[in-house]
Amino acid sequence: MGTAKAPQRRAILTGGLAAGAALLTACSSKDTAGTGKAVAGTPSPSPATASRPDSPWSAFARLMDGNKRWVDGELQHPDRDPKRREFVAEAQDPYGVILSCIDSRVPPELVFDTGLGDLFVMRTGGQVVGPVVVGSVEYGPMTSGTPLVVVLGHQRCGAVKAAYEALKDRKPLPGNLQSIAEALRPAYRETVERQHADPVDAMVRIHTKQTAADLRSNKDLAPLVKKGELAVVSAYYSLDTGRVEVLSGAPSA
Ligand SMILES: [Zn+2]
Repeated sequence: MGTAKAPQRRAILTGGLAAGAALLTACSSKDTAGTGKAVAGTPSPSPATASRPDSPWSAFARLMDGNKRWVDGELQHPDRDPKRREFVAEAQDPYGVILSCIDSRVPPELVFDTGLGDLFVMRTGGQVVGPVVVGSVEYGPMTSGTPLVVVLGHQRCGAVKAAYEALKDRKPLPGNLQSIAEALRPAYRETVERQHADPVDAMVRIHTKQTAADLRSNKDLAPLVKKGELAVVSAYYSLDTGRVEVLSGAPSA
């Protein structure tokens, strides 16, 4: 988080989002000066904290390094101790936003081997979005310059499979589950336009890429992407191997 971002952040905080920012301050983001450093009085950071990624590329590289450790069974469990808890108790400054499925086998903090205060995490069935979820994704990038958003789909997604079958057979899912199916309808339409050997897996990938593209181009995040301050990546998680495969939007060094 370079000091160059401070003016922009101040503009956001004092502009049309002032009321929202005041509300969000309750979530205790980083120092109000926008320096990216810990607020006064907090304990010293651990080595991992001191080298917090401050660009889309460095944040992406940090996550992919963590995923490699997860795949290889060499987890470091960084920043998960009382010292870290004390360090982030008064202020947080995550370097990534993860939007993923509720699936119990895809916990972002584990598959990227991250620590306390590293990530903002949103999880919904089939990682579908609506205004509330998009607002939560936008919070970090818009208020404290979080440089990376990852939309993470996964292998054998039950939510996408159920939605695919409900839309194909025109049999609505019970209760509010149908709202998930409806949110997946654009991905379903694109899926059935072509023949896929595994249409559910294709739909997962299409939906994940569509969601990232929508976030990347929305009116609030697009300016940050254009300035190179934010990357929105779509990725696919293999339940079999633990590996995260990038689908689109990987930042360059
Ligand atoms: Zn899922």
